[in-house]
Amino acid sequence: MHNENLYAAPKSDLNDGVTASCQRIGKLVFVPANHDFPERCIICNAPSKQPTKQRKMYWHSPWLFLLILINLFIYIIVAMIMRKSMQVSPGYCDIHAKKRRRNMSMFLIPAVALMLGSLALGMSNSGPVYVLAFCVGFLLLIPGAIASKTVTPKRIDQNGATFMGCKEPFLNSLPVGRK
Ligand SMILES: [Zn+2]
Repeated sequence: MHNENLYAAPKSDLNDGVTASCQRIGKLVFVPANHDFPERCIICNAPSKQPTKQRKMYWHSPWLFLLILINLFIYIIVAMIMRKSMQVSPGYCDIHAKKRRRNMSMFLIPAVALMLGSLALGMSNSGPVYVLAFCVGFLLLIPGAIASKTVTPKRIDQNGATFMGCKEPFLNSLPVGRK
């Protein structure tokens, strides 16, 4: 499907320094070990807000999830030992950084308020309404966690890491790679 010359210079015309060897593989971005994302927004490809936050990403083989069927505790221990990590700093422009923060606070602030409020009030007056408020708060953590997501590792090994979650304008700026 891809007929691009694999030896062509990266399409990006911005100076990325050490980040020039990131590649797109379909919808994924491959970041070689000891490299990082280019300093551009992973949504719209505009220059990213600096400094970009460093994020430590963890990944383990999906096969390990089978251990949950045996014992959750064993899974947690093995996953902690077997997981691989890589530090990267996926960027956001001003607009998308603000949008992400707004989406996060839209869910996380009411989630924390409902959970803490219902715990505090439920101490003195018990009632199903406090339990319900706590549960609603707890459920709001799920969209909150989704809104706070940046990129998600699809695989991490000694060569580098492949990430999901970058949008087309950013993906288009990267040279096409083959795994
Ligand atoms: Zn952007």
